[in-house]
This record gives sequence, C-alpha cells and structure tokens, in this order.
Amino acid sequence: MKNISTNLNNTHIIIIIVDKIKIKTNYSNMSQKFKSFIKLLKERNPNQPEFIQAVTEVAEDVIPYMEECNPAFLDEKILERIMEPERVVSFRVCWEDDNGDIQINRGFRVQMNSAIGPYKGGLRFSPTVNLSILKFLAFEQVFKNSLTGLPLGGGKGGSDFDPRNKSNKEIMRFCQSFMTELSRHIGSNVDVPAGDIGVGEREIGYLFGQYKRIRNEFTGILTGKGPGWGGSLIRPEATGYGLLYFVEQMLYERNISIKGKVITISGSGNVAQFAAIKAVNLGAKVITVSNSDGVLHDKDGFTIDKIHFITKLKNKGSRDFKEYTDLYDSTFTPGKTPWIYPCDIALPCATQNELDTEDAAFLIKNGCFCIAEGANMPCTMGAVKLILKSGISYAPGKAANAGGVAVSGLEMSQNRIGQCWTEEKVDAKLKHIMHDIHNTCTHYGKEESGKINYLKGANIGGFIKVAKAMCAQGIV
Ligand code: NAP
Repeated sequence: MKNISTNLNNTHIIIIIVDKIKIKTNYSNMSQKFKSFIKLLKERNPNQPEFIQAVTEVAEDVIPYMEECNPAFLDEKILERIMEPERVVSFRVCWEDDNGDIQINRGFRVQMNSAIGPYKGGLRFSPTVNLSILKFLAFEQVFKNSLTGLPLGGGKGGSDFDPRNKSNKEIMRFCQSFMTELSRHIGSNVDVPAGDIGVGEREIGYLFGQYKRIRNEFTGILTGKGPGWGGSLIRPEATGYGLLYFVEQMLYERNISIKGKVITISGSGNVAQFAAIKAVNLGAKVITVSNSDGVLHDKDGFTIDKIHFITKLKNKGSRDFKEYTDLYDSTFTPGKTPWIYPCDIALPCATQNELDTEDAAFLIKNGCFCIAEGANMPCTMGAVKLILKSGISYAPGKAANAGGVAVSGLEMSQNRIGQCWTEEKVDAKLKHIMHDIHNTCTHYGKEESGKINYLKGANIGGFIKVAKAMCAQGIV
C-alpha cells in the first residue's frame, strides 16, 4: 500500500494505492460522515461510554477506508449494522449463599454478529459488568475473531456476580443457576462462550456440568474446558503466549531482539501469568505484575519459579503479594500501576482503560518503544492517540490478544472431529495464526513512512471479511 498526499484548492486530497487500485479521498467530506456516524452512535447508546469508545476507535479507521476503497459498504450501512447487536439477552440469576440467604444477580449474553460463524466470546464475572462493557467487548470480539481467519462470529456475556471471597460451593451454585438460563441461548453451532475475567477452568467446569445435565448431551458448547473432558491443550496459555508471538513479530519488523528487554506487565491473572512465562522463556526480563490493589515490582526480574509462586498466591486469593515480598527482594506499592517503572516494552494485561494519557506520557518519556495489549481496550483513547503520535509500536488487543480465541476455535474443531491434538501441534497453529494476524495488520496498516499503524491495520483487516459476508447475506 502506498499513500500520496497533496493539497488542491485548500482541500486535502489523499491518494491511496491499495492492491494496485488508486483511490482519491477528500478528508473534509469524510469527517462529516464520521461526525454524523458518531452522533448516531451516541444517540442510540446513551450512558454506554465504553461501547462508544470502542466503536469510535474502529470508525476512525473504517469510515475513511470505506470512502476510499469500498463505498458499497457505506451504501449497505455495514458499520451502522455491525454496531447494533443481533441479540441481547438479559436475565435474572438467583442463587443461595452458604448462609441460606437468597442472592440475585444479572446475567447477560450479547450476540453481536454471526456473519462469519457462530457467536464466540468469553463470559466475565465481575461486579463491574454492565451492558456498556459487554457490548464493547462483543464489538471488539467481532473484529478479533475475523482477524484469526477462523469461522467465528462475535459475542460476549457475563454477570455482575463477584467471585472474590465466595466459597467453592457458592461459585458452583451461581454457575448452575447462570447456565440454567444461558443454556437456552447457546449451542455448538449457535454460540460458544469461553472464560474471561473471573471465569477460569473451575467456572467453565461448573457451567459445562449444568449444561450437560439440562440437555443430556456432551457437546462443545463452551471452550476452555479441562484437557481430560474436551478442552484443548495450550488454551490456558494461548492469550499470553499469542501476545508474545505477536510482540516478537513487531520487534522483528524493526530488527530488534526481545532478548534482554525489560518488560512491565499489568494484571496477575490468566493472560498476565502466561505472558510473563513466555516473555521470560524468550529471554526478556519481566519486572512487574499487578492487581486491582497495586503493583508488585521485582527489580531482578521474575524467574519461572517466581511466576509459579505468584500463580499459587493468586489461586489462594491473596491480594497484597505479602508472601512474595517476604520471600524475594521486591516491593508492593498499593494504589500504583506498573507504568511508573521504566521499561522497553509495556504489556497491559488487566482490564479496560487501565493505562491513561498520563501513564502513556510517562512510558514515552522513559524510553518504552513497544506497547501491546493483552487485555481488551486497556489504553484510553487519549493514551492511544499519544502513543501513535510518539512513534511507539502499538498493537491493539483485537490483534495482539487474539491467541485465546484462536485456540478456542481450535478447541471447537477438535470437539467436532473428536480428536485431541498435541501441545506442539496447537502451539504451532497458534504461532501461525498470530503471524498471519501480524501480516494482515502490516498489509492494511503500513503508512507512507514505512511505519506500521497496527490499530488501523487490525480495524480494516478485521472489518473487510465481516463486511463482505454481510453484503453477501443480504439485509438481515
Ligand atoms: P483474570 O484471570 O480474571 O485476571 C484479571 C487480572 O486483572 C487480575 O490480576 C485482576 O486483579 C486484574 N485487574 C482487574 N481489574 C483491575 C483493575 N481495575 N486494575 C488493575 N488490575 C485489575 O482475567 P484474564 O483472563 O487474565 O483477563 C485479563 C484481560 O485480558 C481482560 O481484559 C480480558 O478481557 C482480556 N482477555 C482475556 C483472554 C483470555 O483468554 N482469558 C483473551 C483475550 C483477552 P484482581 O485479582 O485484584 O481483580
């Protein structure tokens, strides 16, 4: 792709050559289209800031692309249709706690888009869950799943249930009640949920058990299952490993080796733990993990044994890493994030909007040259703008953390054919998919200067496949 920029009669014209097709663009018209789209988005989704943020970030790249390369997608109102979920299910989840008291939570499933496959996306159990957050996650999932090259539509779900400080039995009773309703809306060719924040292998087990009891069938309606009962090897590791495979490609593009690079990671859950393990195995030095209470800093860097120790603490529900700081020369700073520490590479792996403009400015000032999102939308919009302007290589979550859903897709394939692939085979496929996603981002995101805008590449690359399928399937 090659861009040529010129200025005629005070109108900024951009000529883009995509796949040998020359397209002229008038940016003054485009911004009007963009403005009216955003007005519609805000009117139709009041009080949903996260959803508006996610759609705006995509629209900024996709609307110019449609005007330049594919006006038919504009005529078909593809983006207006993609932003409207195909279905949103909201339901009551009642369960009894250990004292016999009745508890009432809200359950949701957002079935966003099924143009290229059955709905696919995780379940989040967290008191912060609301429709804005689930709609933003489902929207992102549509593009992410498309980027994997697998036939997966996009969805997301969850509950405002807080699994912290709950007994095992309480978690089980909640999961059973949640699945009793959800089972009406999912199926191996309809919608296949997985885990997300607060939903790991234990919760997937309870959910799967209840589905099997209600429907009397053993089928692949969830991914992230245990390896002995239909789960894929490497699924727990996939998001973190995939993130590092993507980062390796970003660095390779700039002739930089990951060996010896200092990495800060946020979060200490599934994604953070396996990102840290892969980074250390690749020769990098990881110096932080975190949780919602603060940041753990180990200036000597985590070894694999130290990361396993953190996993054990996390599984015990420990919140201040005190046992870690007692054992190793390290500090836990409450109320702070990893972004206060100088690093070469920053990997936000905790939650949405956890890295803001101030954090981004700090990272830039301290010499960070690569930021890749393990979490979904962890950088605020202001932070993203600053990072892109600074020249730092930046990969959005929909590209960099797609490894999890990719291996979920492989789990679905294994379930369909009744096979269990080896660790090596799944890992090789994961690596291949992450390289392909990187290539897609490069193809659609390479700028005139040679720099790669991964955000633009991922947005356009993810959009095209879904848009083509929607056009082919008529106005539905
Ligand atoms: P997880 O295992 O539940 O871990 C989440 C981690 O983030 C925990 O350490 C949690 O700390 C921390 N956290 C949550 N809210 C925070 C906050 N406001 N500030 C700082 N830390 C916070 O979840 P996960 O599966 O690793 O998911 C993490 C992110 O990756 C999410 O954005 C998720 O959507 C995304 N993602 C996950 C997958 C996957 O396969 N699991 C795939 C793609 C993307 P506490 O223990 O204190 O809450």
